[in-house]
Amino acid sequence: MSIARATAEADPVELVLAELRRRGGRVTTTRRLVLRALFERSGHCTAPELAEEVGQQVRSQGLDVHMSTIYRFLDELEELGVVSHSHLGHGRAVYDLSPVAHSHLVCEMCGAVTESPDELFASFASSVKARYGFSIDPHHFAMAGRCRNCAG
Ligand SMILES: [Zn+2]
Ligand SMILES: [Zn+2]
Ligand SMILES: [Zn+2]
Repeated sequence: MSIARATAEADPVELVLAELRRRGGRVTTTRRLVLRALFERSGHCTAPELAEEVGQQVRSQGLDVHMSTIYRFLDELEELGVVSHSHLGHGRAVYDLSPVAHSHLVCEMCGAVTESPDELFASFASSVKARYGFSIDPHHFAMAGRCRNCAG
């Protein structure tokens, strides 16, 4: 689904919520705020960062935001194809809007994250496919290594 790619004339947040509703999903104030935060960020974020970002607005409306609510919602958005997650380190997951999904190069020394486009992995992916019949997914886990500064 290319909802997140969005049309210029429609609010992408409302488009996603409409699709969610169509599938029998719940549309709540918290969910709307989380989506808004996702679309307004330029890069990826973790679930706790999202909770932090919407927390104040949610609480000012007399509501509470639970991490389980955020994770459940992110799962639903992932099923809809709106977001995708990847692991940058030991279990740490970050979420990106699907149309801008990319690979992550993570420095094991300083933790710096570099985002890289898919074509970087194209020739590697095709030789792995040819040799093992295995289709790699360069998005799900980050590539670990050393950044330019730490490599010395
Ligand atoms: Zn990212
Ligand atoms: Zn995963
Ligand atoms: Zn580094």
